[in-house]
Amino acid sequence: MSIPASPLHDQRTHKKNKFPFRFGCAALLIISVGLNVYLLYFDYKPDVAIASLQQDHGKVSQNLIEPPPEPEALKKDVRQTVETFAGTMEDKAVHSISFKVRNSLSYTVCKIISREKGCAAFAAHLGRLMIWSMDVKKGVRNGDSMEVVYQRLEGAEQFKVLKLSYASKLFGKTFDAFYFDKFDPGNGGYFDREGKEIARRIVETQSPVRRYTEITSLPGDFRKGTGGHSGTDFKVEVGTLVYSGFPGKVTRVNWNVRANGYCIEIDHQKLGIKTLYLHLSRVKVKPGQTIRAGQQIAESGNTGRTFAPHLHYEIQHRRNKKTIYNPFTFKHHKSYTRKISPQHHRAFQKTVTLFDSVVVMRKS
Ligand SMILES: [Zn+2]
Repeated sequence: MSIPASPLHDQRTHKKNKFPFRFGCAALLIISVGLNVYLLYFDYKPDVAIASLQQDHGKVSQNLIEPPPEPEALKKDVRQTVETFAGTMEDKAVHSISFKVRNSLSYTVCKIISREKGCAAFAAHLGRLMIWSMDVKKGVRNGDSMEVVYQRLEGAEQFKVLKLSYASKLFGKTFDAFYFDKFDPGNGGYFDREGKEIARRIVETQSPVRRYTEITSLPGDFRKGTGGHSGTDFKVEVGTLVYSGFPGKVTRVNWNVRANGYCIEIDHQKLGIKTLYLHLSRVKVKPGQTIRAGQQIAESGNTGRTFAPHLHYEIQHRRNKKTIYNPFTFKHHKSYTRKISPQHHRAFQKTVTLFDSVVVMRKS
């Protein structure tokens, strides 16, 4: 059986003979594109790779999702006030924005992404990446510039920040955070350019949960009501095992279930504190029960007043529940920061290059 030669094939052959120089260029381009695709695909699905390649060849069409709400008033302070589409990753669109801060972080962000589109949640995401480097309320100055690469999510969180770059006037430096989880999906985090984690972690033997994707709120977080948040929220899937970091005695379980959901309170007499665990799906201890350090006590959940599955972990002074401790500065909790290990360094560097290129692409 013979396949008839297509007119296209004929044409190509013809061109090849007539324009050898053009063919040479095309071959070179194909080789370079192929190499780039290979290098980028090593870590990611090719969608972003294609977007990055388009950038290299000056063909990126910027898809302006939302026009700036007040172009004239903002021209002075906010350079890029549009949300730009930059390709897709894992089937979700990747966006980027860059801007200069005016008034406050949330004010500026809400001038770019409307309230309906979740600017408050977006600003909160950025704020909680920054709290590990600065006091956001005091540290953020007019004219500081910020670049963000992110995806929109369907759930309560609304966004996933992939890269945050914050140039601070006050500190005279740029804070970078790149999301990376290749070393252990489900236990990833945000790392600076050198591969050092932005957030601190409690040592495993003392941590209420051992695997989590992010700390979503710290004590004193004023988004959580006028008194500020009293605990630390660990973003975890329902059913994640919960442990007591210290020896103690269970004082009560499941009080005020409407707000707290299923919950546990443990008295740690020797340390002078009580620890609380809220929004659980399963309670595995009883009031009066003695608990050893590192004992499994519950499974995390999404019960009571919550928007998404998480564990609310709270450390109170044992006689004054208004005195709340931050677990990452609390003297009895040992904490540390993770570093990208040598075997994942190459993959991490690729992530950094890729997320950087998304922002550069938008600028071009
Ligand atoms: Zn909480």
